[in-house]
This record gives sequence, C-alpha cells and structure tokens, in this order.
Amino acid sequence: MISQDSIQQILSRIDIVEIVGSFIKLKKRGANYLGLCPFHNEKTPSFTVSPSKEIYKCFGCGRSGNSIGFLMEAEKYSYVEALRWLAAKYNVEIEESETSPEYKQQQQVADSLYIINNFAQKYFSDALFASEEGQDIALSYLKERGFGEDIIHKFQLGYNAQSRDGFTKAALAAQYSLEYLQKSGLVNVRDGSAYDNYRGRIIFPIHNQSGKVLGFGARIIGKNDKTPKYINTPENEIYVKSKILYGSYFARQAIDKADECLLVEGYT
Ligand code: ZN
Repeated sequence: MISQDSIQQILSRIDIVEIVGSFIKLKKRGANYLGLCPFHNEKTPSFTVSPSKEIYKCFGCGRSGNSIGFLMEAEKYSYVEALRWLAAKYNVEIEESETSPEYKQQQQVADSLYIINNFAQKYFSDALFASEEGQDIALSYLKERGFGEDIIHKFQLGYNAQSRDGFTKAALAAQYSLEYLQKSGLVNVRDGSAYDNYRGRIIFPIHNQSGKVLGFGARIIGKNDKTPKYINTPENEIYVKSKILYGSYFARQAIDKADECLLVEGYT
C-alpha cells in the first residue's frame, strides 16, 4: 500500500499538460491545449487539456478525466501503477504503509527477477547482433523467415549461443545470484554445475503491461527431434502463464482504438 502522504505528494506535483504532453503533441489554444486524441482516430484535433481545471476532454469521443485517469486509459495502468509512474517521473519516494513481511519478500523477489530478465534481454540482443554466431545462425534465420530489423528491435528478439554456459558465466560475473537465475528459468543446475537453459535458441522476451520483461520463449533454430521446439520460463513470482498475453503490451493502444482484437497462436 502506498501511504496517503506519498499520494498527496504525488498529486501536488502533477502537471497535466506535461503528462499528457509526454504522450501526444499539444498546442496552446487560448487558456487550453489542443491535440489529436490518442483514444480515437481523428485528423482534426478535438482533444483538449485544461491546465486550470487539471482535466482533459475529447469532444470527438467524449473521453475525459484527470492525469491519473489519462494514464490509466492511455497506458492501461491500474490506479496504483499510474501513481508509481508519476512518482518515478517526479522523483517522489514512495512510502509503503502496512505491508506484511511476506508481501515485502515477494516484492523483493519480483524486483530481482525483473532486473535479471532485463540483463538477459540485453545480453541476448547483443548476442544476436554483435556476435558472429548470432549473425550467421540466428539473424540470417530470422531474416529468411521474413523478420525485418525494425520488428526484431521492437520486440527485442535475441539469441542465446550454443555454448554450454556463456550466459550463465556472464550473469554470475555480473553478480546475479544463482538462486534467482534458476528461478528465472535462464539457468539450470545439474550435478552441481550451472548451464544455460536456452542454448542455440532464438529468444522472444515476454513483456508485461508496462513493457518490463516477465520471461522468455526460446525457439530452437531449424529441426531437432531431440529437444522441444520451444522452452518457456517456468512459473515464478512474475511469470504467471494464465495472466499473460504475448504481444499485448505492443497492441494495447491499437486494440483500444479499433475496439477490436484478433487473437492468434504463437509468438510470430
Ligand atoms: Zn477522442
């Protein structure tokens, strides 16, 4: 729980023009600001922001609200996520009140897993673009399958080399704990020796609603009957299969605008 004191601190710093302005282009028009509505398709701006009333209103689709409502609508945040986004933006340190030790412990594990996944995503991206093996085997495979570099970058695709423990060594050298590396599904241990779980595979990071990496899908390149085509992150504090829809982070605004959603199977 975020303390009332922190909420008040956040609310007192909110500047709606600045917040909305970080998502859409606003132009001053009299006492208000005007821009193209992010919630429906339009060519003539009818989206108005009033700094004095601290609200926005669209005269096209009728949506309106305050800064927090805007973040919840535009980014699909919950109320608490919107507050945390604002706290980060305005450098307000959040005080948590009345959290149980179990909850705190779980949050700590979750934070650690996000940090490890972030490290891994960058490592796998580098391996795809900056290593000879990545370029020769993985990048050429992706291009052959019709992936443009823009898509590869947008979805943060990567590659984990065929070597036994390249990633494991890099992660341990960067001081990540072996316990959490195993929990993340990135590293396995057999007979006391740690090794990469996703060897020789294309890596698909799986994002949460705010774009953080929850886990990975790892696809074998080419055909190999000895090993499964895909290996996925095991269930842990942040990766809960039944709650995740791959790609929804990238599609959420378009789904909202079109008021329609097409579901298909598979990462691609
Ligand atoms: Zn609108």
